[in-house]
Amino acid sequence: MFKKITYILGLALFFMLVVLSVKNANLSSFIDTVENKTFDLRQNIMVNSKAKTASKDIAIVVVDDASYEYILDHYGEWPLPRDIYARIVDYIEKQSPRIVAFDLMFVKSLKSANQADKALADLFQKYDNVYTAMNLDNQSEDLRQPPILPEELSVSLTNYSDDINFDDSTFTNCRTIIDGILNYSSHIGFINVSRSDDGILRSMPVFVKYQDKFYPQLALKVGLDYLNQVEGIKVKDFEIDANSVLSFGGRDILLQKDGSAILNWYGPAGTYTQIPIYKLIKAINNEPTDLDYNFHNKIIYFGTTAASLFDIKSVPTDKIYPGVEIQATYVNNLIDNNFINKVERFSTIVISLILAFIIGSVVIRSSSAIYASVISLAIYFIYVLAAYYAMRYGNVWFEIIYPLIFSLLAFISTLIVKYLIKSRDFEHQYKLATTDGLTELYNHRYFQEQMKMQVEQAKRYESNFSLIIIDIDHFKRFNDTFGHQSGDAVLRQVAMTLKRNVRATDIVCRYGGEEMSIILPNIGKDEAYSTAQKICSRVAEKSYKLSNGKESNVTISLGVATYPFDGTDASSLIECADKKMYSAKNNGRNQVG
Ligand code: GH3
Ligand code: MG
Ligand code: MG
Repeated sequence: MFKKITYILGLALFFMLVVLSVKNANLSSFIDTVENKTFDLRQNIMVNSKAKTASKDIAIVVVDDASYEYILDHYGEWPLPRDIYARIVDYIEKQSPRIVAFDLMFVKSLKSANQADKALADLFQKYDNVYTAMNLDNQSEDLRQPPILPEELSVSLTNYSDDINFDDSTFTNCRTIIDGILNYSSHIGFINVSRSDDGILRSMPVFVKYQDKFYPQLALKVGLDYLNQVEGIKVKDFEIDANSVLSFGGRDILLQKDGSAILNWYGPAGTYTQIPIYKLIKAINNEPTDLDYNFHNKIIYFGTTAASLFDIKSVPTDKIYPGVEIQATYVNNLIDNNFINKVERFSTIVISLILAFIIGSVVIRSSSAIYASVISLAIYFIYVLAAYYAMRYGNVWFEIIYPLIFSLLAFISTLIVKYLIKSRDFEHQYKLATTDGLTELYNHRYFQEQMKMQVEQAKRYESNFSLIIIDIDHFKRFNDTFGHQSGDAVLRQVAMTLKRNVRATDIVCRYGGEEMSIILPNIGKDEAYSTAQKICSRVAEKSYKLSNGKESNVTISLGVATYPFDGTDASSLIECADKKMYSAKNNGRNQVG
């Protein structure tokens, strides 16, 4: 009964703590942040052990610090005149790259010359594999009127998932790019990003929403073009199913609540081949340069890495990571079907409960706390290892912090339950070892121990204590007359009467058979004698219920001994009390000797 109640209380404690940790908004957002850090850690271990290699088909033409300096030296300003980009693309296109994509925004600018802009715009007419970027924002209408974007830029997207809402990827304004591109090219993708609470970019929107239409991420467009060219996959309409999965061309991408996809990383900044743009500028101007790259069939991204051009983000594998490499990573994830699928919260809670149950069972069964801790740690460690390999080989993100918290709570609450049960068991054992089963008085062994203790204490504090020995009169005859059962019943009732007539600190014992004894700590001769006398008359005046329902009377004879007058050790005191009890018997019984 007690065990059951304790188990139920332990379970209640566990679930109370679980609900507290899951429902508390601050705590759960803290847990999410820590979980994200474990994701970063796993990603870094994967990257360091070369679990996945970045596609060799993607390269980046970078405006790095050297190129930026070169551009300022030769053109006197940034941005680079746009006809230079046009000439570079012309140069690259001779080697037939698969796709050329600009992670640069060709916004309308007073600085840019119309001729140069036109040269660039013509490029988008001339080659059907050139892409460029645009960005949605929430600028006020004071700054600019929200433009109406060409129909061809949007995609049809049907969302059957209740979990996903695009609130965080919905924008009210847009910064347009030069008309020559915007109005005549459909090869424009968006480069909006989404960051976690700690500022680290772990996922990217697949679509952004503007004026009730969905627009694809630039990397999605580039990746789809690649899939079309290489695998013949054509995607027209997008659909997110009820389980938040976006499927196309054999790819299943589990989207987050904000409609973003979690990226799988291939390395720190510089993972993709980087070609400084100044080398290409030199090449188109027929200046000597060590440019040694074959653009054939490659996806070529253009982007900035120069510190002063500010397109720098933090990602799990690097604190300083250029936006253009995020685009490359995204495309790489699409090509290799490597997006991370994070296990939904409900399944995480179920897994955590299972783990908590296993650990709870181990703790309950194990005999030592150290053994229980080691095994519990081992179980959790195996889970973490499994979670790591699931991410490494299955691109699945099993959360490990909720399972840790649940396991810890299970560990602690089962330890508490175990401790409560154990201490209760101990109490029970102790009672069994010190009490007499029939009368529930202390037993002979306890009596002997207490006698020794009382002697020692009385010696140390120079105090006294008394002992009364009691024997029921003519009990043999009583048994013979009324039967052993009735004898037992009377023994119990006499024991009860003794207990009721002494102080709580007095120790009433069954000395053996129908003999009982009472130790009276700090009680002197006279007081002990009068207590004995009181007991004698109380026992005599009471009538006792027999097993046959009738009633009868018994009397007792008593002997009193007091430390130090009648003896200074346990056995001499007992002997003295015994003697006095026998003299009471000889004097006619029912009296104190
Ligand atoms: P007296 O002490 O007055 O001289 O006579 P008595 O008949 O009581 O003599 P004694 O103390 O020697 O007898 C002990 C008797 O107590 C023997 C036994 O029948 C009875 N007795 C001892 N233990 C128990 C017990 O646990 N239950 C019952 N029913 N009887 C017991
Ligand atoms: Mg006796
Ligand atoms: Mg007797």
